[in-house]
Amino acid sequence: MFKNEPLLDFTILQNRRAFQVALDNLDNQIRKGGLIAKPMVAGKEISCSQSINSTDPADPSIVVGKIDHADSALTAEALSVLAEGSLKWRGVPYDRRAAIIKNAAQIMREQRFELNALIVRESGKPWAEADGDTAEAIDFCEYYADEMMRLGPPQSMSSVPGEDNIYFYQSRGVGVVISPWNFPLAIACGMAVAGLVTGNTVALKPSDQTALIAFALVKILHAAGIPGDALAYLPGRGSVIGAQMVESPLVDFICFTGSQEVGLDIIKRAAVVHPGQKNVKRVIAEMGGKNAAIIDEDADLDEAVKGVLYATYGFAGQKCSACSRAIIVGSLYEKFMERLVNATSDIIVGPGKEPSTLLCPVIDQASQKRLLSQIAKAEKDLKVAHKGEVPTTGNYVPATIFKDVPDTHWLWHEELFGPVLACTKAKNFDEALKFANNSPYALTGAVFSRSPKNLEKARSEFRVGNLYINRKQTGALVYRQPFGGFKMSGVGSKAGGPDYLIQFMEPRTITENTMRKGFAPS
Ligand code: NAD
Repeated sequence: MFKNEPLLDFTILQNRRAFQVALDNLDNQIRKGGLIAKPMVAGKEISCSQSINSTDPADPSIVVGKIDHADSALTAEALSVLAEGSLKWRGVPYDRRAAIIKNAAQIMREQRFELNALIVRESGKPWAEADGDTAEAIDFCEYYADEMMRLGPPQSMSSVPGEDNIYFYQSRGVGVVISPWNFPLAIACGMAVAGLVTGNTVALKPSDQTALIAFALVKILHAAGIPGDALAYLPGRGSVIGAQMVESPLVDFICFTGSQEVGLDIIKRAAVVHPGQKNVKRVIAEMGGKNAAIIDEDADLDEAVKGVLYATYGFAGQKCSACSRAIIVGSLYEKFMERLVNATSDIIVGPGKEPSTLLCPVIDQASQKRLLSQIAKAEKDLKVAHKGEVPTTGNYVPATIFKDVPDTHWLWHEELFGPVLACTKAKNFDEALKFANNSPYALTGAVFSRSPKNLEKARSEFRVGNLYINRKQTGALVYRQPFGGFKMSGVGSKAGGPDYLIQFMEPRTITENTMRKGFAPS
């Protein structure tokens, strides 16, 4: 029976020490010139002429490492290798593939502190968030390996005398996995492992901002037993090699997590059939969110304030599940706003390397600049309930709360992906539901209420992929809370859920006339 990987307990001195040692060791490597990641094709690292630096969000003058970018020629070569490789990898029995993925989970457990330290340095995540990322990657490996064992054996279907029917799944072929930076290990791992365990070969194109973590993942997967010609690592510009991979006739499916803009572009490009293409491409695209929390008039205020606070500011609001809209019912509005502003004034702002940080820097200077300008734009016609202080070094964005935000305002609809909360008052629970559903997205939602009647209404009418009742809306666990949305939040079945792997395979049926068994041909 699958069990989620326990999170590290940082009240235990040994764990705190081990984390600090891993951070210190990484800092030594950084002082000596930093890490190096190169494209990996057919199991070999390949030096390229173009490269980028990956920097620490808490201090962009620190170069964590250098990443060589794959160009179009190398990308084309990698896809050919994977197309050849898929003919071999698909023939490896499903239980052997599952065992290899379980090996990868074990290697991640052994490298847990090193992976956590790299996540802290490259993505800026605080300790607990970094450890959650690694634990989720381990969960994806374990769960998808178990799922493959469930789905692997052919099923015998209804048979009549003289006829046998079997139903089974085969791999699709070559997959492209395009990952975001915000769960740099977990999401890249989940998508890549789902493709591999189902018998496909995979080209992993990571986000530039966290390509060092993705490189560590690829090395772990190869060490676990994934052959060189079944997995390629192709860091590079999304608009160049990402688009090339999506359009390649050698590619059979694309598994993407990222913004709505890029996701919709991928869906459009993948629909065009190119000469030599054998399959209609399948696209699995997990996209953005603009997630609401409803605080009912009778809500437990302590729980509601805590839930909204952590869901809004955890990892600086850079989670697709993060809360970015709060709707407070009736007379509770002023009281809730006062409590939330007071609690927000007290949050710990700082670099991810400090274990107690809640509000860390955002991923890069471009995000910081964009968010600051969006806040300034919103300030022109909205009331600011709170704007916090932030350090001057690092990509920090102040915790910002707007109040009385109409549901027609752009801030109500646009995903900012930062520590910015839009709040509004609803006259009753029905109006709160209307405001919550007034969004192009449908990813997560939270409702804090003690009214059974209103909770029942929320279950049926708060239309989001993942609804949380009387708890925060971030932190979905593999298998316990299969994760994913609909509307403009994505297409495809929920990650970490029982329908996920089926998307990476084609079902086949074989019907055999058994009447003739044992008869010589006439
Ligand atoms: P992004 O869309 O900017 O980039 C995602 C990936 O797409 C990167 O690897 C990027 O290089 C690549 N890319 C960019 N242009 C491309 C193109 N033209 N063709 C192919 N690939 C291209 O997203 P991001 O900033 O890395 O991540 C943040 C976004 O991800 C947010 O919108 C967030 O809501 C979303 N997200 C969604 C989920 C979910 O489960 N629904 C989970 C995490 C993040």
